Parts: sequence; C-alpha cells; structure tokens
Amino acid sequence: MTQDNLMSKIVSLCKRRGFVFQSSEIYGGLKSSYDYGPLGTELKRNLAAKWWRSMVYERDDIHGIDASIIMHSDVWKASGHLKNFTDPLVDCFNCQARFRPDKVPSVAPGTKVEYKSAKDKKKIISSEVKECGYVCPECGSTDLSKERLFRGMFQMPLGAVDPVQEFVTKNYDSGLSKEEFLKELQKEIADSSVYLRPETAQAMFVQFLNVLNTTSAKVPFGIAQIGKSFRNEIVVEHFIFRSCEFEQMEMEFFCEPGSHKNWLEYWKNERLEWYKKFVNSPESFRLRQHTEKERAHYSNDCYDVEFLFPWGWDELEGIASRTDYDLKKHSEASRTKLSYFDPNKKDPETGKDGWRYTPYVIEPAAGLTRLMLAVLCDAYKEDKQVDAKGEEKIRVFLKLDPSIAPFKVAILPLLKKDGQPEKAKEIAQALRKKGLHVSFDDASSIGKRYAKHDEIGTPWCMTIDGDTMEKGTVTLRDRDTTQQETLTVEEALAKLIGFFSL
Ligand code: ATP
Repeated sequence: MTQDNLMSKIVSLCKRRGFVFQSSEIYGGLKSSYDYGPLGTELKRNLAAKWWRSMVYERDDIHGIDASIIMHSDVWKASGHLKNFTDPLVDCFNCQARFRPDKVPSVAPGTKVEYKSAKDKKKIISSEVKECGYVCPECGSTDLSKERLFRGMFQMPLGAVDPVQEFVTKNYDSGLSKEEFLKELQKEIADSSVYLRPETAQAMFVQFLNVLNTTSAKVPFGIAQIGKSFRNEIVVEHFIFRSCEFEQMEMEFFCEPGSHKNWLEYWKNERLEWYKKFVNSPESFRLRQHTEKERAHYSNDCYDVEFLFPWGWDELEGIASRTDYDLKKHSEASRTKLSYFDPNKKDPETGKDGWRYTPYVIEPAAGLTRLMLAVLCDAYKEDKQVDAKGEEKIRVFLKLDPSIAPFKVAILPLLKKDGQPEKAKEIAQALRKKGLHVSFDDASSIGKRYAKHDEIGTPWCMTIDGDTMEKGTVTLRDRDTTQQETLTVEEALAKLIGFFSL
C-alpha cells in the first residue's frame, strides 16, 4: 500500500463509516470544513479525555478552564496577534495557485527548472529559480508574486449595527479620496470588531490571576484547556490536518524565571512519551527543535512533536518556551499585575525575603483534530484472512487502542429470534451501565458485522448464540487476532468491565 493510497483509504473509510463528513455536503460542501460523525465524535472525545486525564486528573499542579472563543479585542492587541498573526502568501502567475512560501521545499536560487504553461499545456517553459529560493508547489513555475502578509484571524462585527453600512451611509458624499475612504472604513471596522480566537492560549494568560486566586495553585503550576480555534488558513490541506476551524489541547505551565529550560526539557519528553503509550508505531513520533528563524517572536526555544504522516514528517504539537512575554504584555495593557509572590524565596536582585516575579511559561500546544488523523494513520491495517468459503480476502481493521476506540464492544446476536436479541440487549445494557460505549448490532450476516466492527476499530465482538441461551456462554472475538474465546456471560462481563475500569 503506497502512502498516497493510505490517505485516500482513510478519507474514504472516514466518510463510509461515519467518522468525518464534508461540512454542508448537500450544498456542495464548504472547502476545509468538516463535521465529525457519530464515530469521529467518539474518537475525538476519547482522545480529548485521554489528554485531560494525563494533564489534569493525574496531576495536582494543573487546573482546567473552558474560556470564551470570542474575547475582548484588546487581548489580541496586547498579545501581538493583531500585528503579528500573519502568514506570508505568494500567488503563482502561471497556474493561479496561492501558497505559503514557508511551507514549500527550498530550491537553490539559480537552479534550472522547466514547467508546463498553464495557458498552453504543450508549451514547456525553461527558467531559473529566483532569489526567493522556491517554485510554485503546484506547477513548478518561477513566475511568482512577491511575498505579502495575510492576517490569519477571522474578524467580525460585534453588535446590532453593521459598521460598513453605517460608515458608508455617513461618508458616502464626504469628498474623501478612495484611499482615505478605505483607510477610514478599515479603522471603523477594526474599532467595532471582535475576533475568533486563533489559539486557546490567550485565555489562560488573561485568567492567570483568577485561577491563581481561586485555587491553591503555587508556581510551578499549569492551566489547561481544550477548545476550538479558528485560522483563516491560506492553504488548507491533507483532509483534517489543516482546516480553518479545528480543536486544540493547550496547557500553559507557569514556572520560576530561570527554571524554564528544565521545564521545557521535562515537557518535551513528557509529551512525546504520552503519544507513544497508545499508538502502534512509537517510532513514527519524534521531536524536532525549531530553528531560530522558525520561532515565534515571543519564544526563546521551541520543539515540535512530529508524526510521520503519509506525506512525510509534520507537526502534531508545538512545545514552546514563551518566556514571560504574554503575562508582561497583558499586565502592561490591562494595568493588572499578573505576577506571583513567593514568600519563601529571596528576591535575587535585592537579596530580601520574598520574591515577586512574572512567571515564565512553557506551552505544550497540541491539535486534537490533527491527532485524530494521526491515530487513524497509525491504526489503519490490512491483513489477509480466509473466509468461510475458503477464499483469501483482504481484511481492513483499525488497530486503535481500546481506550480511544469509538465502541468498546459490539454485542451481536447470531439470530434475530429464540430470545437472542433480548439477551444481547440485556448484556449491552449491563455494560452501558458501567460507562462503556457499546454497540448492539443485529443488522446483517455475522461475517459482515465482524468486518464492519474491525473497520471501525471495535476491540471486541461478543456473539450471543444458542449456547448463550442454553449454557450461558458467549464468544468474545478479538479484533486484532480474530481469535475467539468462549466464556460465560459473567466472565465476559468481568473481563470487559475490568479492562476498561483501569
Ligand atoms: P502549522 O505550522 O502546521 O501551521 P502552527 O505551528 O501554526 O502549525 P501552533 O500555533 O503551534 O501551530 O498550534 C498548535 C497545534 O494546533 C499545532 O501543532 C496543530 O496540531 C494544531 N493546529 C494549528 N493550526 C491548525 C489548523 N489549521 N488545523 C488543524 N490543526 C491546527
């Protein structure tokens, strides 16, 4: 199976089985917007719960919050997003593609290249790579626009009045030149605008004091959040890998100045190891340190956790040392002291007891929707099985860790009679009461039902048959090995409940 093939198989499985649908599909779909179907929603929730468990429940130094998506626009002014949250953008004059020059491979300036003319497909154009050091990723052309900056935040008016309509009505006959008119209009729009957050992080800085004052937190401590973020991406790519609306799992870890290097070391290892615990190929996850050029303006060191996607290594999570930049900026702009007082430390400058300082921050910022794609790539497996007729068939199965599988077990009555469906429902209900997401499935032949549950990653299928009714036994089929074992109903329930209560 080629890697391109793998991606198209995953996209098709996601749609066929109800993991991910194109948004607004019946209206032709909206590019880069996705809806998560019944199984995708479960997988995503399970991944989020796993992250929350490791970040919040298994520690006593991290507190969770759930903040508004729309915040005061001064937040984005102070954080620098209004000025700096931009991506470079280049247009190709040959094929009209629009791309981010920082995301395309470098080609040495002066390298001789050839590409097809988009107007006349028979015409081959020979040219040399210009100073910029790249060519169009779509057609290979060197006929490119200059780089310009494009703001990545979605902007919208807040309130009942349409600022554009109001401005135009007031200023239509004002005699302003076109340039002045546009400048004034943009100012008016900016003044009444709010933004969809492009990261969840800022709320954790803005609520730093409230969390500190309402918990018994002492530095070092963290604030964690899972939620939606929005970026007006120039290029949306690779299915749910890069979309305009996505979910993040971020944590801001506040620590003493001077201890940040150790905490960065700690968190980068901690985060890499977290992924390795529940995937099939831990070697497909690695850390990569950012070059100085790549780092954001507020960061003094940064690592990415990368995953080997079908198209190559790419970012799954960023672990940035954000210094005291954000707290200081919000302190200045809001005139609120976002600092921490440690009565047990001496101030390093004065040598006096008690030290007030602005904490440094380490931020592990992961993409939840991107992680879902990574675990689907990691879990997609094919093997050969011999069917009941003795024919060899390719079997597709999602080897998902049971903790993240959408259904934990499928209860399958062999027949739709003889009390088997009723018994199956009774068993399903007993498992549901223990908090397990269970599928009762009597839809088709047993072979088809096994195939379906293999494909959606259900770790076990429990078959209810004549023996269940007579002897009280069931068969439990393992998704990965397809091996079946016969157990009493009580043993099977104890095995499953015991497994998932760990
Ligand atoms: P990239 O370089 O891929 O654009 P980034 O470095 O801008 O990502 P961060 O700002 O560090 O991303 O965001 C943290 C995480 O949020 C990323 O590692 C990624 O998993 C996720 N993420 C960011 N942008 C998107 C997007 N457009 N679609 C899906 N997930 C995203």
